[in-house]
Amino acid sequence: MEGAKLGSLLHKIDLDKIEYLFYNACMDDFEKLKFLSSQTSFEPDEEHRISSAPPACFSPKEKNQAFVHPAQLPNGQKIMLLKTLLSSACERDCFYCPFRAGRNFRRATFKPDEFASLFAKLNQAKMAEGVFLSSGIAGGGARTQDKILDTADILRKKYQYRGYLHLKIMPGAEKDQVYHAMQLADRVSVNLEAPNTERLAKLAPNKIFLEELLRPLRWVEEIRRTLPAYKFWNGRWPSTVTQFVAGGADESDLELLTTTDWLMKNVRLKRAYFSAFHPITDTPLENKAAVDPLREHRLYQASFLLRDYGFDLEDMPFTNEGNLPLHADPKLAWAQMNLIQKPIEVNKAERNELLRIPGIGLKGANAILSARRINRLRDISMLKKLGKRRYS
Ligand code: SF4
Repeated sequence: MEGAKLGSLLHKIDLDKIEYLFYNACMDDFEKLKFLSSQTSFEPDEEHRISSAPPACFSPKEKNQAFVHPAQLPNGQKIMLLKTLLSSACERDCFYCPFRAGRNFRRATFKPDEFASLFAKLNQAKMAEGVFLSSGIAGGGARTQDKILDTADILRKKYQYRGYLHLKIMPGAEKDQVYHAMQLADRVSVNLEAPNTERLAKLAPNKIFLEELLRPLRWVEEIRRTLPAYKFWNGRWPSTVTQFVAGGADESDLELLTTTDWLMKNVRLKRAYFSAFHPITDTPLENKAAVDPLREHRLYQASFLLRDYGFDLEDMPFTNEGNLPLHADPKLAWAQMNLIQKPIEVNKAERNELLRIPGIGLKGANAILSARRINRLRDISMLKKLGKRRYS
């Protein structure tokens, strides 16, 4: 067939319809939702997952369709969160991912209005109070982002949904799409996956670290700094988070935390999520050893010390290889190196000094500051009454 005729024929084909029919054979909406929401372990659990078990109030049939889980939002509110993909079809080939193109894996896809209508029903029935929406990429990042935005628009405008909404920013999304997502969402996320260009090449060679992943995070911050918050529904700009596949590219904890620290300081990243690498069959990394989940825990502890406790990267007890010791709490390790010879006097210490003491968190430091305005803290039992487990 001549090129021009082929072009005109392709122009008439409804790509959305073909994709929809191709991926959804024999699945009703709830089956699709159950299937797609069970495939989100690669997305950040930024809304702290309280439990993976379905709620006790669910009937056996509902439990069988458990696509929501209890979660705690950053403001402390507890909700039933639906975390799902709009589509598990993907044209990219990230080495660690079960959805990578060409992998023999069942796929499913929602149309924006179909998902929005289903979620609105679940929301009205109080079965789902918040939603985190991501997707595999089909037809380019911008086209996929449009589908996520269409879904969010329908939810907010047609169904007047005012609950929690977290939208994923796709690699390849455009700046006006990022702006649009920020007008609709409580939170937006871009998964960096790896801490820098070199490491990303080992995990996802067709993703471009600076242009496709870091740039949208810069756009978000630029928009937050330069434009007034959109007043459509809550008048606040969304927060941003990212996720790393810890250990997938043989990167060190120092690399992960250096990037995390930079993001928190320069683009006001709210939080980094770390997902310990585990191999998936029939992917290029299927023979790579799984990473100890304890590494995730240490990375979280260290990232909170950087974000909330006034610690610097130089304070972290990195090994010569740039990793955190797996079997030592980084704050405790710092204290053992620094406080044993030079203990802190809790009656005189500034807040930032109190926060260096193992066992004293943000609330604990505030409680000590309040209590000692009334009485001098004389012994450890007084600290224990304030809820402290131990101190140095
Ligand atoms: S872009 Fe990469 S990580 Fe995302 S769904 Fe596709 S293959 Fe998986």
